[in-house]
Amino acid sequence: MIRHITNLAFFTMLSVAAVAQTAPQTGQPQRRRYQPRPYTLTVNDIAKTKVDTAKLGAAFRAAYPAFAYADGYRTKREVTMRIIDTAKNFTLSAREGEIVANATWIKNKKNLAGFQQSLNDALHKNWVSVDTIKKNGYSLVFINKNEKFNPTVQKNLINTYFEIYPKLCDMFNHKATKDVIFVTDTAYKGVAETSGSRILFATHYMNQHPYDIDVVTHECTHIVQSYGYSYGRDLVWLTEGIADFMRYKFGVDNVGSKWFLPNFKSTQSYKDSYRVTARFFEWMDQKIKPGMIVQIDEALRNGSFKPTIWADMSGGKSLDELWAAYAADPDLHLVYSSENP
Ligand SMILES: [Zn+2]
Repeated sequence: MIRHITNLAFFTMLSVAAVAQTAPQTGQPQRRRYQPRPYTLTVNDIAKTKVDTAKLGAAFRAAYPAFAYADGYRTKREVTMRIIDTAKNFTLSAREGEIVANATWIKNKKNLAGFQQSLNDALHKNWVSVDTIKKNGYSLVFINKNEKFNPTVQKNLINTYFEIYPKLCDMFNHKATKDVIFVTDTAYKGVAETSGSRILFATHYMNQHPYDIDVVTHECTHIVQSYGYSYGRDLVWLTEGIADFMRYKFGVDNVGSKWFLPNFKSTQSYKDSYRVTARFFEWMDQKIKPGMIVQIDEALRNGSFKPTIWADMSGGKSLDELWAAYAADPDLHLVYSSENP
């Protein structure tokens, strides 16, 4: 099911996402609060050539944003291009933030005409592999940036995506994207993070914890959530609590990764986020109103969420009152998913 894809197919696939990330070329210099910085190209030593900078710019805008979007959250947006005439057999190199081209090579009309493809190829050399897998209308582009990444873990992450993600979309958000990108990175020190339709995995963590494949379930929930930015930082605990609640409900092998919801302790708060919050949500789902958390998730997505929603759904209890009731009687029957029951 895995095949190596051509640059063209890959960049076509990513172009929509990349365009959405690219700020307008002209007009409005001021960005809105969450609008990303634009991608820029500065060409140095242009006098060495008579190259048409408009052509270079067009090729750059077609190739680099898609690369940067897929490459990682912090991949440089400001790129400098140097044109050198010292190296004889050199043509072109490109990495984040820097493009180097041989003056003689780029002055050749044919090379300039094919510059976009050459730039794509050069940018791809920064990655160990790029694969795309398609199944039942869903696609996954898997970019591996670590030669030492465990191939079994890669296979398991891919399988978990195709098992979980379509299911979550079907149940909770039909409008969620069907095209997702996984990137495995050596520099990233966390576990995993999601931005738009791209999930970044820390290879150090995943190599050390090969059974923790339901990281995919948690992160895919973030794509399905699509709450937008309007809630700000205040509701991060809620977003993360729901992601772990969904991992508890739909994860494929929580037993295999020894992932459990921690027992209640009086030192906890619902704002502790992640698993502490997820257990509280499961308690509400069992003891207050079945399906309540799914409705909260829906309200966050469609913009109807407000702080009074807890009382509206629980028959009058505020969030703090619900937590107090949970603290008074936190016992729960919990059942964890396992691939080896
Ligand atoms: Zn998360």
